[in-house]
Amino acid sequence: MPDRPDLDDDDLCPVCGATGRHQVVGTPYRSCPTCGHHDAGERVESGAVVNHALWDEAPAISALEREQVRTLVRAGWRDQRLVDLGCGHGGFLHAVDVVRGLPPGSYGVEVSPASVEAARRWFGLELRPELSVDGIATVITTWHSAEHIPVPVLREALGAIDHPESLVVVSVPNAASWQWRLVGTRWTYYDVAAHRSQFTPASLDLLMHQAGWTCVARPRMVLYELFGALQSLVNTLRPHNRLYETLKRGRAGARRADLVGDSLLAALMVVPALLLAIGGLVSRDRASCVNAVYRRSQA
Ligand SMILES: [Zn+2]
Repeated sequence: MPDRPDLDDDDLCPVCGATGRHQVVGTPYRSCPTCGHHDAGERVESGAVVNHALWDEAPAISALEREQVRTLVRAGWRDQRLVDLGCGHGGFLHAVDVVRGLPPGSYGVEVSPASVEAARRWFGLELRPELSVDGIATVITTWHSAEHIPVPVLREALGAIDHPESLVVVSVPNAASWQWRLVGTRWTYYDVAAHRSQFTPASLDLLMHQAGWTCVARPRMVLYELFGALQSLVNTLRPHNRLYETLKRGRAGARRADLVGDSLLAALMVVPALLLAIGGLVSRDRASCVNAVYRRSQA
């Protein structure tokens, strides 16, 4: 009997185990017919991203990091130790430290040696290569990093955190979003160099349920939504995320004509982007990102 590589174990959804996944045309993802999860498996080789290499010195606290801090407080964080999973250069933990004070024992988890070095040097943060299991109440945040981590690794790591006062606060790109459906691979959160997964609200809830967590809130995050809508619409006519990359780096090195053209297009797209963003904020399951807060499930 000939080999049937399209029907081996690799054809099972890594979240719900369903068969019958279909290839999302023009992408490395297979889409699950049951939970909607998009999985690239080993077709995405590296989950690591290094943002900080764009800057020569520690960046100022961003508006997004301030919104993340507000979301953390509204999620029910009080004084539990904080762990930022996929913390990058440590900007979020630094923002918490400045705005609220960082509880003792808080740390970041990061696999990129360059990011680890930047977080230590710029902000004096403690970095570890993985989540520690030590029975201490912990609030784990994962801002656009869970989609970089293989699903079985994420399930096992979060499943081991069992203190009843622990929380997990997640934001990941949403494969069930209006933005994905409207612009497809032009979507600003589409990143086949690093995203092994594109979650849906259903697949994230199911994965977290398997790890022992129950969703208790779906926060709205305005900046992810607005930025996603505007940059995705600009991407329909311009190179992917060029405007964002230029603004993040600073204008040095950008071609003036590109920057002017991208900015003019962004100005024209403001009204449609606002309408798209409002749609996502009203219908949260169709928002550009799945934002969710989880508590330990009751036994
Ligand atoms: Zn599935």
